Amino acid sequence: MKDVIVIGSGPAGFASALYTARAGRSTAVLTGPQLGGQVSMTWEIDNYPGFPDDLTGAELTDNFMRHVEKFGAELIYDDVTEVDFSGPPHKVTTFGGEHEARVVVVAVGASPNKLLVPGEDDMVGRGVSYCATCDGAFFRGQDVLVVGGGDSAIEEALFLTRFADSVRVVHRRDELRAGASLQRRAMANDKIDFEWNTVIEEIAGDGKVEYVKTRRTDTGEEGRLDASGVFIFIGHYPNSKIVEGQVDTDDHGYVIVDDRMRASVEGVYAAGEIMDPVWRQVSTSVGQGAAAGMAIDRYLSSLED
Ligand code: NAP
Repeated sequence: MKDVIVIGSGPAGFASALYTARAGRSTAVLTGPQLGGQVSMTWEIDNYPGFPDDLTGAELTDNFMRHVEKFGAELIYDDVTEVDFSGPPHKVTTFGGEHEARVVVVAVGASPNKLLVPGEDDMVGRGVSYCATCDGAFFRGQDVLVVGGGDSAIEEALFLTRFADSVRVVHRRDELRAGASLQRRAMANDKIDFEWNTVIEEIAGDGKVEYVKTRRTDTGEEGRLDASGVFIFIGHYPNSKIVEGQVDTDDHGYVIVDDRMRASVEGVYAAGEIMDPVWRQVSTSVGQGAAAGMAIDRYLSSLED
């Protein structure tokens, strides 16, 4: 049995593992299906304090891994199928077997929302994507659409200009939600233009994306945009299915924690995007993970007193 099992290997998971392992608590990280979480697919991170020069998500993930391993945390490359928080000790079942720990950190992050329009699911990998870093290079010299008006959409639209001939941002309102500096960069980029007050109602093509059917949100007018790629960035939902019924969540499925990152069950903590729908930064997730790690060490010490 471990002192601590961390479920998830994004910034929050690695930060909590770093703090518990460094405090001498035996710690395992169950990496989940995507090592490094969402940030591992980010091309350029320029707002993580202390890293003013180019930093990719893959590099940061690699650093996180080396850092936790340096202090003795064990990485287990497996996916969780079930949890049982009726302990402590708590049980975590993976494809590879069963694990027990005095404390579990839920750091399973969030996943991209879908548009939920006809053609979307069929065309994933055939022009529909939720990750410009992963798929952008396939669209060299082509025309692509980006859906959404937040930081993610604009950041990814800018990234896609490295490959695509044109990037058209389709947004349901007439102003962006994205921060001012990203907006300025996008407006100044010759390859980017905007389709305001517009939603996509269908993604269509013969075996691959060729066009989308649109509707204007102000006039109701229907239209069509030709493109070979549709990159969708319209927010996220928490990956809380695995802990459903085991810890309290809010109406949107985010795990509820107190100011020490404790979930509603003794010995269960949560950090990162599984409990934070608002900030969603590498730095904030790291902070939440670090706080969880320190709180866990104090909790385990209190049991030993
Ligand atoms: P977000 O801020 O929630 O933006 C989602 C965008 O998608 C909004 O523009 C929204 O439109 C639109 N949208 C939502 N549902 C839609 C639908 N069904 N159909 C069409 N459009 C839809 O999400 P995000 O961009 O992923 O950002 C999430 C958080 O991460 C934010 O706090 C953001 O600041 C942060 N973030 C920061 C950075 C950075 O600092 N570099 C990078 C990425 C993300 P409306 O505007 O009309 O609501």
